[in-house]
Amino acid sequence: MSCLSNDPMDGVLNEASNTVHKQEVGKQTLESPCGATNNLSKDQLSQATIDQLVSTTTTKCGRCFEDSGGY
Ligand SMILES: [Zn+2]
Repeated sequence: MSCLSNDPMDGVLNEASNTVHKQEVGKQTLESPCGATNNLSKDQLSQATIDQLVSTTTTKCGRCFEDSGGY
């Protein structure tokens, strides 16, 4: 399961909490694998690549990014 390509990965930003989630692959709607987006309205979500969403003002979702280690 290695993926070292530079393909931009889609992410979903919860604007209410500034949390970055992964976009569920294959879904047309904004939906994260962890299910957090189920409780949020579309108004509170925006989609971009994860690279664009992750910044000093946002936090990665621990469930969507559990394999990324963290610091
Ligand atoms: Zn998540």
